[in-house]
Amino acid sequence: MIRLEGINKTYYNGSPLHVLKGINLQVERGELVSIMGASGSGKSTLLNILGILDDYDSGDYYLNNVLIKNLSENKAAEYRNRMIGFIFQSFNLISFKNAMENVALPLYYQHVSRKKRNMLALEYLDRMGLREHAYHLPSEMSGGQKQRVAIARALISKPRIILADEPTGALDSETTQEVMDLLKEVNREGMTLVVVTHERDIAMQTHKIVHIKDGIIGEIEMMK
Ligand code: ADP
Ligand code: MG
Repeated sequence: MIRLEGINKTYYNGSPLHVLKGINLQVERGELVSIMGASGSGKSTLLNILGILDDYDSGDYYLNNVLIKNLSENKAAEYRNRMIGFIFQSFNLISFKNAMENVALPLYYQHVSRKKRNMLALEYLDRMGLREHAYHLPSEMSGGQKQRVAIARALISKPRIILADEPTGALDSETTQEVMDLLKEVNREGMTLVVVTHERDIAMQTHKIVHIKDGIIGEIEMMK
């Protein structure tokens, strides 16, 4: 599903910072992979490249056998909307839209009618156990509920892969496990997931742990 070959990335605002120094990584279809590494090691940078949110300087990135390189803004947005679902630590919900409208948003960009996208959003909220929160604003929900809304939003466009950057970073330990259980269930239903985390308890629940250190992939631990 994902193949990275020799990916390099340097930030040039300020003094140059060579963050990724030849990343090689493969993620198979249906895998649940975690990425661990110290703060500042480049985990988010790597995930942003995988999510076609950011460019890289050299190397090759294949997503679903498509070379993702030097894309125009339009192409990047098209691939992103069609192939990738995102989950963030801070949920990134739109504060003035209710849960249903937040979940439905990706379908707006795919020009699905309002009626159809709201109906689908309700289905996905139902699957996340949030049917009765459909008309609640983010400010009226707990952290765990907001992250479940974000998971529903990530799923609704039927992406090829879901990328999650510290999805449980803002949650208490009980809620963390609830969210992790949901992500594992989504994976069991066939979705490929890459989860960045600094919590070993979380990483150990995935199929393999990829360690990033000094700009390259170090150890890869296979979990049973
Ligand atoms: P992690 O997610 O592992 O904590 P990041 O990928 O966010 O690490 O950041 C890696 C390094 O790159 C850090 O030193 C960070 O300060 C720097 N960095 C991240 N984003 C930018 C940016 N847009 N411009 C300049 N430096 C950045
Ligand atoms: Mg980060």
